Amino acid sequence: MNYFFVFQNKSYDEEYKGGYLWAPKRGKGGNRVSHWEKMKSVKQGDIIIHSYKKRIMSISIAKRDVYTAIRPTELSDEWQQEGWRVDTEYIPFPEHIITSDIMDKLLELQPTKDAPFNKLGRGNTGYLFDANKVMYEYIIEQTALVQKNDKDKQVVIALLDPKSMEVKTQLEVEMDIEDALAKQMSPEKLAEQVVNVQPKNPQKTESVVYYRSPYIKEMVKQIADGKCQMCGEDAPFYDMSQKPYLEEHHVQRLADGGKDSLNNVVAVCPNYHRKIHVLNDKSDTIVLERIAEQNEQQFQRILAYAKEIENDV
Ligand SMILES: [Zn+2]
Ligand SMILES: [Zn+2]
Repeated sequence: MNYFFVFQNKSYDEEYKGGYLWAPKRGKGGNRVSHWEKMKSVKQGDIIIHSYKKRIMSISIAKRDVYTAIRPTELSDEWQQEGWRVDTEYIPFPEHIITSDIMDKLLELQPTKDAPFNKLGRGNTGYLFDANKVMYEYIIEQTALVQKNDKDKQVVIALLDPKSMEVKTQLEVEMDIEDALAKQMSPEKLAEQVVNVQPKNPQKTESVVYYRSPYIKEMVKQIADGKCQMCGEDAPFYDMSQKPYLEEHHVQRLADGGKDSLNNVVAVCPNYHRKIHVLNDKSDTIVLERIAEQNEQQFQRILAYAKEIENDV
């Protein structure tokens, strides 16, 4: 995942409303411009920091890789028609930090190449520049500090975990916050909220689907032999094909670069599977890793046996 910094001084409102970034491919004279060319490196899941009139207005997550698209009609026609477009999910901040207030730190943290600010602490002329994780985290922390209430602070702080952002839409982040608030409420306060809460519009998401080999899934279940590999209990029921119902869990998530292979999967009961995801407990992870290793060993034995039979035939 890469980080970018965009100066949208002419087009923030339009691009924010439309949920995109757009830059022309060539200048008026047909020349290439490096801060526009930078658009070519934006990929799905990348994080963009949005600056407008020296304020950090929002961050966003690219919903798909950059693609060629003509200039959206709402943008000023001083630009060429052909350009690059990135569709991106904006997460606006209620209150904004001013970049000049934190310039010393930004200069210290920003990348050494293609950075948004020059040595004098002024924004470089241009559109898209490189940023990095430390710079992003510092901006989020500072932005959280200027929010006026705890709820807004929490919404901003939640953005420190980009993993959760990759899969969560703004609506889901809002629900997480409300969830935390609801847990602290008395039944009376809750009843009030149930009556008063305003329904929110549904949100469409584009999510990444990872391939999970059904063969690996079936293999790990056969190795587990009808018992949860974590709690040791029998599968809670039989599925439609009369097989003990267990679920496959990837020890390191595929989204985090985990492999779809026997040494990264375990078969667990649905209860324990939920527990793993809800608690994200370190001690569970250690056990899970060990079991996955054993699954790999068992798999190698089965594989060796399979080859032996083959040779006999
Ligand atoms: Zn279990
Ligand atoms: Zn899982």
